[in-house]
Amino acid sequence: MAPESARWRRFVDAFEAVVGMAGYELVIPPLLEDIGVFTRLGEATDVVTKEMYDFVDKGERHIALRPEQTASICRSFVQHRPITPFKAWYSGPNFRYEKPQRGRYRQFDQVGVEVLGSLDPYVDIEVVQLGWSFLASLGLTKVELAINSLGEPDDRARYVDALNAYFLQRINELSVESQQTLARNPLRVLDSKRGEDAAVIADAPLINSFWSEAAAIHFETVCEGLTAVGVPYTVDLKLVRGLDYYRGTTFEFRGGTLDSAQNALGGGGRYDGLVADLGGPETPGVGFAIGLDRTLLACDDEGVFSASDQSADVFVVDVCGGRAALEICTQLRASGIRTERSWDGRSMKAQMKAANRSGARFAVIVGEDEHRTETAVIRDLRSDADQVSVSRSELMSSLNSRLSSLQGAE
Ligand code: AMP
Repeated sequence: MAPESARWRRFVDAFEAVVGMAGYELVIPPLLEDIGVFTRLGEATDVVTKEMYDFVDKGERHIALRPEQTASICRSFVQHRPITPFKAWYSGPNFRYEKPQRGRYRQFDQVGVEVLGSLDPYVDIEVVQLGWSFLASLGLTKVELAINSLGEPDDRARYVDALNAYFLQRINELSVESQQTLARNPLRVLDSKRGEDAAVIADAPLINSFWSEAAAIHFETVCEGLTAVGVPYTVDLKLVRGLDYYRGTTFEFRGGTLDSAQNALGGGGRYDGLVADLGGPETPGVGFAIGLDRTLLACDDEGVFSASDQSADVFVVDVCGGRAALEICTQLRASGIRTERSWDGRSMKAQMKAANRSGARFAVIVGEDEHRTETAVIRDLRSDADQVSVSRSELMSSLNSRLSSLQGAE
């Protein structure tokens, strides 16, 4: 609802402004997909195994409400085979069956980008930089960027084995939840925020000992590139992301003002295999998603990107039947002045009350005298300045000059 709804629109506009500048094009994925599109995200991915809204439709098709949009973008890439590198951005709602709490909802919006078809570390840098620039463009200053590399697929597999062996040795010290996570995906145990897991996690093996030379060079290039363009980051060798198709670079934008269990504003990384799993050619990919709901909470905390004033410029008060208001509204709206009015032949007092409540800067009043003399009164609703009477033919230019001098003074 307004004014929050307008803020949502501006959020997406701000995102488009940043990614459009870099030549990313909008993809609008469907809300519903065949469930197979998402099950390819992996058996160990919570959003698929535990959180998906899925159902069988009237045609016996197994369908899911999208829990995220990367898989849909890859599916549409496979279907339409655009030339690579394919640079896409998206926005819109996703659905996950999660326990709702502050910053975590069952329907939530994301904006994001995906680049398909290039292994170049400069793509990783561009993608991270776009996310960073977007958050900065909202006015956020307390965002931290954490970055890691999960290595090449073989490195990751060896690391997962080593982690598994390590956690199994100390399984009795882990929380029951982490013991269950371990059986599904040892990497995700590193994500646990539970106090009892902290000591075990602190001594866990680190991924950098498992990087191949190529993975290490790739990561170093990404870090150097970010430094070169002034994007500050922290290397977090325990950063693993929720979706288990990530390889190589992974990163997360954390809101400095948010509670640590819920502080990821967004994140992403490199993934291979997904396009091929969906029936396409081997195609590398890198991207991120930023959550709108949670990022706006961070904006509230920092007092930036506020819900802007969407009030009208002018409220027309007409106590002579409403025809003058119709004509004035038509004329002013056509010239770009946001104009409201009352209906139902209400009294002068009631209409003035509505004008004040609307937040409009000026009231244009047509009473009996003005009706007879083809004039209108302009009253500034936010200052004690005397009201002025102008002829109807001069009304628009008079309002325009008042509104532009106010804009100039802002
Ligand atoms: P993910 O797609 O899980 O990598 O999440 C990326 C971002 O989307 C997170 O950092 C959050 O900002 C947002 N997000 C994910 N799940 C939810 C949710 N259930 N409610 C609100 N925001 C979410």
